[in-house]
Amino acid sequence: MSTEALLKMIKDEDVAYVDIRFTDPRGKLQHVTVMSDQVDEDFLDEGFMFDGSSIAGWKSIEASDMKLMPDTESAYIDPFYAEKTVCVHCSVVEPDTGEAYNRDPRGTAAKAEAYLKSSGVGDVAYFGPEAEFFLFDDVRYSVAPNKVSYEVDADHAAWNTDSEFEMGNLGHRPTYKGGYFPVNPMDDGQDIRSEMLTTMKRIGMKVDKHHHEVATSQHELGLIFSSLVKQADELQKFKYIIHNVAQSYGRSATFMPKPLKGDNGSGMHVNMSIWKDGKPIFAGDKYADLSQEALYFIGGILTHAKALNAFTNPSTNSYKRLVPGYEAPVLRAYSARNRSGCVRIPWTESPKAKRVEARFPDPTANPYLCFAALLMAGLDGITNKIDPGEAMDKNLYDLPAEELAGIPTVCGSLREAITELQADHEFLLAGDVFTKDQIDGYIDLKMEEIESYEMTPHPVEFAMYYSS
Ligand code: GLN
Ligand code: MG
Ligand code: MG
Ligand code: MG
Repeated sequence: MSTEALLKMIKDEDVAYVDIRFTDPRGKLQHVTVMSDQVDEDFLDEGFMFDGSSIAGWKSIEASDMKLMPDTESAYIDPFYAEKTVCVHCSVVEPDTGEAYNRDPRGTAAKAEAYLKSSGVGDVAYFGPEAEFFLFDDVRYSVAPNKVSYEVDADHAAWNTDSEFEMGNLGHRPTYKGGYFPVNPMDDGQDIRSEMLTTMKRIGMKVDKHHHEVATSQHELGLIFSSLVKQADELQKFKYIIHNVAQSYGRSATFMPKPLKGDNGSGMHVNMSIWKDGKPIFAGDKYADLSQEALYFIGGILTHAKALNAFTNPSTNSYKRLVPGYEAPVLRAYSARNRSGCVRIPWTESPKAKRVEARFPDPTANPYLCFAALLMAGLDGITNKIDPGEAMDKNLYDLPAEELAGIPTVCGSLREAITELQADHEFLLAGDVFTKDQIDGYIDLKMEEIESYEMTPHPVEFAMYYSS
């Protein structure tokens, strides 16, 4: 809504607070709450000063003043707060020059949209993310913390609580990979998922369906496609609502890619298409009814996939999902049919719905950086006419070793992804969409996570080596 409409709403609907929200480099939504009588036209035009030094990956203490610029178009009423509160998502600008802060993910996403237009390839890119998640009993409600144990038997290593046993034998507990998708009581997430989707609809989000996913306690809700910055904003609301509705049921939601060994992990497939002059440019008469541009776009994604992993699969846990056998991709291949490659072309009769699905991203990705990086890789493919090679229409999990050896893969660890990003990031710098300083800062941030992870003894190591 416009600035005027927002101010009118605050007045007419007796809004008590305005929640100023922004996203840090790791992808977490942050906020500060302002009394609504402080919010006028000047406030919305001039922005809100804050100390950026406490946000990981942003400015240091010596130069930490930053400004949040509310985007009134993103306004929505918070569905959880007791006091009536309107939320606005913000971009971050330098207070002295008013220019976009180069490490602000939302600013990067806006620059990627502008770059698409200036490239002449298209006017708008649409993104349809499918972020999967798990719901677990929230240990804060169900058991005392000292009763939480880590189970390290061969079949499944996961956090377990004694509450599972206190519930007794319910007789219908889904087995591994048994969740997809019988009705309740096998599916015990129906009401929670419905409440999540209804809450999204109530605040104006475009959503269409929900279902249980393949793993035990794994779920998916459908977000309808939207343009880049808008969709990244939507995904932040999506996660916020999922976490908070889950909590109200005494459950906790996690978007961690691989919380359970031996069962499917959570992906975030990203469906993409580009439109120009009101027409879809990905529909054509080549393989799987794609256009030549769409094939080049796929070529760009596959060529840069290992560097992209740093943004699309940015956690140490991400690489426990990218293994064969769990509907997650390992090989850098594309196909209209099978789900085992990095890129799939979902079947559709309608040229308008023609899209390319990147299957390797996961929901720990910062959506602004993830969508922007995917778009930059695809555009690099189109500008440099990168041939994606032949499609691979076989089940890639079943290929014999000799054939497999010839097919490139995604990264095997976050450390590898960061090394790849160090070597391959020119395509991100085109049009100053990403900056070198931003990529360096991001690499430092991720190295902290990598070192913390690599230096921590793992429970499985105790099981395997303790008595050696
Ligand atoms: N959970 C699978 C993944 O990790 C996807 C399963 C599906 O949506 N078909 O990507
Ligand atoms: Mg889906
Ligand atoms: Mg799914
Ligand atoms: Mg999908």
